[in-house]
Amino acid sequence: MSAVVVVGAGIVGSSVAYHLARRGVSVTLLDQGPSPATGVTGGSFAWIGGCGGDWPGGAQDLRGSVLADYRRLESELPDVPVRWTGSLTWADDQAEGDSPLGPGRSWVGRSDIAALEPHLLNPPERAIHTPSDGGVDPVALAGAFVDAARAHGATVIFNSVATSLKMEGDRVEGVVSSTGFHAAETVVLAAGTGIPQLGEPLPPDVPVAVSPACLVRLTAPAGLVKTIVAGRDFEVREVRDGELIMTIPCAADPSAASAEQAARDALRRFQAAFRGSGDCRLLDHRIGGRPMPARGPVIGYLTRDRSAYVAVMHSGVTLAPTVGRLVADELVTGRPAPELRRCRPALPRGFSR
Ligand SMILES: Cc1cc2nc3c(=O)[nH]c(=O)nc-3n(C[C@H](O)[C@H](O)[C@H](O)COP(=O)(O)OP(=O)(O)OC[C@H]3O[C@@H](n4cnc5c(N)ncnc54)[C@H](O)[C@@H]3O)c2cc1C
Repeated sequence: MSAVVVVGAGIVGSSVAYHLARRGVSVTLLDQGPSPATGVTGGSFAWIGGCGGDWPGGAQDLRGSVLADYRRLESELPDVPVRWTGSLTWADDQAEGDSPLGPGRSWVGRSDIAALEPHLLNPPERAIHTPSDGGVDPVALAGAFVDAARAHGATVIFNSVATSLKMEGDRVEGVVSSTGFHAAETVVLAAGTGIPQLGEPLPPDVPVAVSPACLVRLTAPAGLVKTIVAGRDFEVREVRDGELIMTIPCAADPSAASAEQAARDALRRFQAAFRGSGDCRLLDHRIGGRPMPARGPVIGYLTRDRSAYVAVMHSGVTLAPTVGRLVADELVTGRPAPELRRCRPALPRGFSR
């Protein structure tokens, strides 16, 4: 029996498994896919930063640690694939002074934008520059977590569909799966949009909305796009030399034909915006269902006896290193992490942790 079984080898579950294993906990990580990050993580834009963006609910208490945890990982794991390029963002209705920028961000004018993105054909009058932002290859990072977890003794099982939790009264005894029963002292549900179904027998309700988003991959000359560019028409960044990724708006239930058309339109908008992009071509596009709890990250025990735990959030790529560290700390020490105080699952009346 493993002390902990983690269900889900996306960016969240693989980080939790790594952080537990490096602290000497016996861990089994299982996923229905054939390799790490075959869920939404594999189609993520994976922009990381601690300054701009939305930080709903308890995410606000984690943002201050995001960059430090990524820097820590770079020293712990070889080849953590982060590109610290900084970002440039602008929108149609954005005027200087609209929003307080906070530390680490500044307004820059057209000449600075042109220096940062020399291939941009019509730089906007102004944009917000966040030099500390970066982008990661999320598949490579999840893979690095899994490899390192294994090196620290974790058991990793792919092609294993968790079908239910085995209950003994209120206690979770382990995970029933297509590869057999996996007993555990604690089961960590890190299965993204699969969490509501797996957690169904447990008293706390963990509602996780599924929010579709589309990622487009393009070939491009290396270095054509230098930063993370979030303009009025698209978000784009270089994920590795010669390959760009873009996020584009996505209908709630897009048909294959409309998604294909949206990807082609995105390529056209990109080519209209960047000099030297004439030979860029579409590699593929992919619609991912982002797990989106209503009020920010949901992280914590689901049972009184600590036999089940959940970790689900939006911006999971940004938050995974910090969340993995804090979850491992809670499971190892038994002490609640103050940073996760506002992330706890809502418990039914009369149910105490
Ligand atoms: C287009 C797009 C752009 C995005 N941009 C950003 C961004 O810039 N920055 C950012 O931080 N986030 C971004 N996100 C969101 C981010 O990708 C997600 O928050 C994150 O990947 C969620 O990770 P996860 O591990 O919770 O989920 P997943 O990656 O879905 O992992 C869950 C895993 O559980 C497995 N699983 C599910 N059910 C079962 C079962 N029953 N049995 C066994 N295994 C199971 C799945 O196979 C999967 O591997 C973006 C997402 C999209 C789609």
